[in-house]
Amino acid sequence: MATIEVRAAVYRGDNGDRLGIEQLQLADPEHGEVRVRVRAAGVCGSDRHVIDGEWQVPLPAVMGHEAAGVVEAIGAGVRELAVGDHVIIAWHQACQRCAECTGGKPWACTRVRSNDSQLPDGTTRWHTADGAAAWPYLAVGAMSERIVVPDFAAIRVDPRVPFDVASLIGCSVGTGYGAVVNNARVVAGESAVVVGAGGVGMSIISSLRLAGASPIIAVDVSEAKLAEAKRAGATHGLIGGADLAERVAELTGGGADAAFEAIGRVATMEQLPGLIRPGGRAVFVGLPPEGQELRIDGLQLAYDGKTLIGSNYGGLVPARDFPRVAQAYLAGELPLDELISTRVPLEEVNEAFDAMRRGERTRTVIVFDEDDTAGAAN
Ligand SMILES: [Zn+2]
Ligand SMILES: [Zn+2]
Repeated sequence: MATIEVRAAVYRGDNGDRLGIEQLQLADPEHGEVRVRVRAAGVCGSDRHVIDGEWQVPLPAVMGHEAAGVVEAIGAGVRELAVGDHVIIAWHQACQRCAECTGGKPWACTRVRSNDSQLPDGTTRWHTADGAAAWPYLAVGAMSERIVVPDFAAIRVDPRVPFDVASLIGCSVGTGYGAVVNNARVVAGESAVVVGAGGVGMSIISSLRLAGASPIIAVDVSEAKLAEAKRAGATHGLIGGADLAERVAELTGGGADAAFEAIGRVATMEQLPGLIRPGGRAVFVGLPPEGQELRIDGLQLAYDGKTLIGSNYGGLVPARDFPRVAQAYLAGELPLDELISTRVPLEEVNEAFDAMRRGERTRTVIVFDEDDTAGAAN
């Protein structure tokens, strides 16, 4: 079988939390698959859970799951895509056939788990120099110069969207948008609070502004991030703390209509139901380490008729929602350029995760060519 050589960020688990830049072999796309030349890959939070040992995946792992690029080769039977198409990659490559998939909930697919590190057929197209299988994290392996994915996981996007912005739509931005539009179904005039102003939190804030929510209250421990959140559309910024519920109640007249937790910390997840008014919705977007339990006031939940919503990939239907987000960006309604704080080459991936661990940078994007940024001339 024909293969090509690709440079990729690989986690082996034998060098602490460091990724190595390795030369891997990538097999040609098979039936129904496409090969994409990755032009931008966002450094998104769930990779950090893996390389910090909090979640287990098959190793060695080709890291990254937030990608955009150009279709470079197509396998037999691919009809929807052509070489040269600009695409955003969906990391949950659902079966497209089961009752959940056909019912508009591909994130709940009963045949393909959303956290699989393999292509839907159970295999991988990547191999190490010595011939061992290497597994694409979340079935994407975005931190690789080229990737192979099923055609339905590569969603065509308007080529006017810069690659770095497009990559974010594949996870952090898409997830934030979906949490607002699909999970909480926020409508104009509703009040909202967002706990955690990192990459996904900022996407939620931008999407709340798009939906017409007001007020939009951002909560973080960093004044710098709160200032950024206000630029993205937050009307108020609060430093978190034990009295958060009272301060939110004051600003919203008794609690927000919708609250979002975008960190995955047990302490802030447990605070969330207390931030919403009776009948409100609390959406859990951040993912905690495995095996963590929450304590929630049962009487408050039942008597106040509150709704707790788990958000997996923002309830996205990628083929429907990615183009909607892209169009909102092109119309100037979603300021996604502002979400990208830093652009780096693949070789600086470890420093990008270090910055994330320190709570710095809204979002780092790995760019594979210097002209792949929103700031570059098109
Ligand atoms: Zn992500
Ligand atoms: Zn399915």
